[in-house]
Amino acid sequence: MVCAQSIEGLGIVGFPVSPSEKGAVSLGIVPREEVWLLWPMPFSKLGLSHPLVEGVRAMGYIVPTPIQLRAIPLILSLRDVIGSAQTGTGKTAAFALPILEHLKTTTGRTRALVLEPTRELAAQVETAIRDFARFTTMRVAVLYGGVGYGKQNDALRAGADIIVATPGRLLDQLGRGTARLDQVKFLVLDEADRMLDMGFLPDVRRIVERCPRERHTSLFSATIPPQIETLIQWAMRNPETIQIGARRSPAETVKHVVYPVATDQKSALLLALLEQVHFDSVIVFCRTKHGADRVAHTLKRGNHSVCVLHSNRTQREREQSLRGFRDGRYELLVATDIAARGLDIQDVSHVVNYDVPQHPEDYVHRIGRTGRAQATGDAFTIMVAEDRAHMAAIERFIGQKIERVKLDRFNYNYTSLFDDARENTGFPGKIKAVRLSGGYYCGPARRRKR
Ligand code: AMP
Repeated sequence: MVCAQSIEGLGIVGFPVSPSEKGAVSLGIVPREEVWLLWPMPFSKLGLSHPLVEGVRAMGYIVPTPIQLRAIPLILSLRDVIGSAQTGTGKTAAFALPILEHLKTTTGRTRALVLEPTRELAAQVETAIRDFARFTTMRVAVLYGGVGYGKQNDALRAGADIIVATPGRLLDQLGRGTARLDQVKFLVLDEADRMLDMGFLPDVRRIVERCPRERHTSLFSATIPPQIETLIQWAMRNPETIQIGARRSPAETVKHVVYPVATDQKSALLLALLEQVHFDSVIVFCRTKHGADRVAHTLKRGNHSVCVLHSNRTQREREQSLRGFRDGRYELLVATDIAARGLDIQDVSHVVNYDVPQHPEDYVHRIGRTGRAQATGDAFTIMVAEDRAHMAAIERFIGQKIERVKLDRFNYNYTSLFDDARENTGFPGKIKAVRLSGGYYCGPARRRKR
């Protein structure tokens, strides 16, 4: 039996030597019943040609993830697919590889279109597709707003086989006659529920109407609200649904804890937490843009290297923040929920909810930034008394009670949350240290290696 190597940076840490071993199951992305399906199946057996298998190998992927295992053969056989999977399960390769396989070589005409809700996601998906296609001649263009037209027009003029776009800028380019969709054979609607939340559904419909009826459509969405159901009825033909894991469950490799605190001590607790936590890179989520700016300011004063991501920032600033965070130049990224969905940032060791999210789904998406593709991560939520109802809604939504803990050596002011906790769990009589990946740790924060 093959034993996959440990790949640093990819988070693949020791696949089991036998399918019966608990390892793959406990890694979280391999449901017990799917171990046998997954285990003996390398990418080369999925019907992908040599250049794509080489592209995947160059990315460091060894075995397909469950969603890849199921979606690749379906899209290769030209079925419409609805994919519903936990975040970070590898859905980009699940749709991109079979589409690249069908397109085979460049023709200079756009034959595949991928719609994404945010600029960051569009850029991320385009990079992944370029990487998969590195041993082919295929050309990819990315179109999103907030930046000039020059580079995007050049890419379109050069002939893009695949366009990855956000709806607004694509409609703009269609209006100018610089992009055409009349040869599109493959359409992907990624993060469809997010596009709905952001009010893009009418634009999506207008774009779908510009694509030929004879096409194959894939739709990925964490949830299927009625409006998406209507879109499915209208835009897809006899689709096959793939569901990996429970729709509501956050990544199973993440440890969750809640830190109850008085409102006036939130930022002091955050600073103290970061002092004690043994972290590599952290995303701190805030509810509002101003809140994010304030928290970033506090963290900078606390001598942390910090970048910020929210929609009041220019596209250039947003790109610089993401690049700097990915490269390790910044150890902390402070963001609003714009960053919560889909973004793939390697090695996020911790997510901190500085504000409890108001929508329970946002909790799952925020937490999805850590523990991606088998890596483990920690998720801390700072909770004040006004967050009680939201926290209860989150716990109901994910179907699990999240442990309340108290930070060691922090001089707490009184909050009524301590009374709740004492009634329910004995807290705070028993003081706990910070729970971290790999055990308990109470020492100075470890800086990211540069
Ligand atoms: P995605 O859900 O497409 O955003 O992918 C999440 C992360 O998993 C990305 O970092 C991918 O590079 C990684 N990934 C996707 N497929 C595999 C695979 N088969 N093996 C290892 N890592 C993967």
